[in-house]
Amino acid sequence: MKAYLDNAATTPIAPEVVQEMIPVMQDAFGNPSSTHAFGREVRAKIERSRRSIAKMLNVTPGEIIFTSGGTEADNMAIRCSLKTMGLKHAITTDIEHHAVLDTMEDVCRLEGVKLSKVRLDEKGYVDMSHLEELLKNNERSFVSIMHANNEIGNKIDLAATGDLCEKYDAIFHSDTVQTMAHYPFDFSQLKIHFATCSAHKFHGPKGIGFLYMNKGLNIPSMLTGGGQERGMRAGTENVYGIVGLAKAMEIANSHVEEHIEHVKGLKFHMIDQLEAQIPGVKFNGDPKGDALYTVLNVSLPPNEKSGMLLFNLDIMGIACSGGSACSSGASLGSHVLGGIHADPNRQAIRFSFSRYTTKEEIDYAIEKLVAFYKEH
Ligand code: PLP
Repeated sequence: MKAYLDNAATTPIAPEVVQEMIPVMQDAFGNPSSTHAFGREVRAKIERSRRSIAKMLNVTPGEIIFTSGGTEADNMAIRCSLKTMGLKHAITTDIEHHAVLDTMEDVCRLEGVKLSKVRLDEKGYVDMSHLEELLKNNERSFVSIMHANNEIGNKIDLAATGDLCEKYDAIFHSDTVQTMAHYPFDFSQLKIHFATCSAHKFHGPKGIGFLYMNKGLNIPSMLTGGGQERGMRAGTENVYGIVGLAKAMEIANSHVEEHIEHVKGLKFHMIDQLEAQIPGVKFNGDPKGDALYTVLNVSLPPNEKSGMLLFNLDIMGIACSGGSACSSGASLGSHVLGGIHADPNRQAIRFSFSRYTTKEEIDYAIEKLVAFYKEH
């Protein structure tokens, strides 16, 4: 038996997505920038995909810029705006994905921008009054706060954060990699300047994503050397990736409520079973609150063998990811768990689910986890 429970890292590609991509790989080989018929055919596929994505998010096609994934989209939003808008203050949190955290730190150092971190509570929620204080007491800010955390699943209220940023004329970027195509979005109703997407988080191909950039903005391309993506991203487009991304998002979007119900049921089943069978088990973040339905971060009671747990689960065919809060600051460990001051003596295991996850997989993981704690 195998159980793939690491869907926040990546998801298996959907067969319908593969079927959509194959003919593009086999036949549509023209360069989309070529003006002849071979090129025009491929250009049409890119633009059809862009229109479809824009429609699902209720934005205009020109606001979607295809990138190589979430990391590049985050980099583009942060690097290009901080540099060209002349902003002198930036705000983020300690629990952002490294695509945001490292980029914010790098660009702030290079451009002489002051970087502030918003306070979080012990469950990982953003302290909105501290965010307001930071916005009020500093120059115009660039704010980057993720919609949902990939390790502990915490979400922010995107609408409320956007409204607060607008009140202080701040530029608001949110890493939406873990929520895009997992929840319905209407960006026309949100005060957000940038949002990011990565197709492999929702059964699309790897190496493709996009940056949503509000049409009111004007930033330069991060890459130079070509006029693709209306001058916003140089380089020949990943055509099959783009077609696969649009297809994956269409499938996700058209069944989103069904997927939420299925996956949420599995997550709560796992919570109930672990609480019933492992004395002292806890959960990092707030899995019963405003959290991703796809992520469950289990905090296990201290145990001298817990360092072997991930290895043991792997041997038994269970894929998940682990970590603990780093106690020394410099040692390996999860910066997210460190950021919420989780107990470094407790082993944390992240299980993450997708619409393909079955109850059998969950029950198998519960059985093996419980057995490990009974044996040791
Ligand atoms: N942001 C978050 C929250 C993520 O979880 C990930 C992927 O792990 C990324 C960004 C990076 O996305 P990509 O793998 O497409 O570069």
